Amino acid sequence: MIHEDCIFCKIINGDIPSAKVYEDNDVYAFLDISQVTKGHTLVIPKTHVKDIYQTPEEVASNLFAQIPKISKGIKEAFQPEGINILSNTGEVAGQSVFHLHIHLIPRYGKEDGFKPTWETHSEDYTQEVLQSIAKNIHEKIHN
Ligand code: AMP
Ligand code: ZN
Repeated sequence: MIHEDCIFCKIINGDIPSAKVYEDNDVYAFLDISQVTKGHTLVIPKTHVKDIYQTPEEVASNLFAQIPKISKGIKEAFQPEGINILSNTGEVAGQSVFHLHIHLIPRYGKEDGFKPTWETHSEDYTQEVLQSIAKNIHEKIHN
């Protein structure tokens, strides 16, 4: 379950200090050291899984089940105006620690330290193309 060279496994194990926000049998939540915004929290499964592709449904289920109440805890503590919930998979997506984690980034305004950019390309995609892309993905979703 624990991966020797994994910094988050070491945190779960107590070998590296962390600021704990929440813990149960399956899940550990602690402050991200970068604190992109105040209260920025990481929620991780206690089982070592590298990323979302490697995650069994039960691990995902237990992990995400705790996200609402942890988010509400952050909201009650610091009254952010909103919260971004995200997980980076792969280096290109910004993943730097290869133990699955969900970022909870409370938002205090548009200049609060977190700047996601969403370019829209909707004019490049006809309904026909959208249907074909969706079909392609749909056919590759395996249970
Ligand atoms: P990502 O870049 O999505 O893989 O996120 C990894 C996050 O882990 C980064 O935001 C880091 O700031 C955070 N991080 C790395 N080491 C530690 C640590 N020892 N304690 C808390 N957060 C950490
Ligand atoms: Zn790990």
